[in-house]
Amino acid sequence: MNCCDSPLNKIKLICPHCSQEGNSVETLTLQSLLHEELLKNINNISSYKYCKTSTCDISYFSKDYYFLVSELKVKATDKDQGLDVPVCYCFNYSRESILKDIKTNGESNALKEIKYMMKDPGCFCERSNPQGNCCLGNVTAFIKQIMTNQF
Ligand SMILES: [Zn+2]
Repeated sequence: MNCCDSPLNKIKLICPHCSQEGNSVETLTLQSLLHEELLKNINNISSYKYCKTSTCDISYFSKDYYFLVSELKVKATDKDQGLDVPVCYCFNYSRESILKDIKTNGESNALKEIKYMMKDPGCFCERSNPQGNCCLGNVTAFIKQIMTNQF
């Protein structure tokens, strides 16, 4: 068994604060998005999860350690409903920029533009989005929210 087959990668963990199951994230995501002074607390052999509960103060957790949302270098889309919060981290779309786009043009080309840029220059969500995965779902959900007057 090599390190990549570690059973730790497949274990289920629940958030120590809200008791919901977390999403697996790479250590690289924590290293990229937590403040510099906290990096020493990241254990390379631990399996980390991201807490996806919007009202929970925990960002990442392992079986014996956790980090707070306030310890992230950026505001997380699903943890902060503010207008200035990014919905796409790689190409800098915020709630505000998409909202403005829709107000001005009646629709948003953000999805089309993002998909185009994902091919070239390419995205790096695992290092830019605190959730550690692709932002497209967040962008799609937000545009739908505006178009159905739920924002
Ligand atoms: Zn939680």
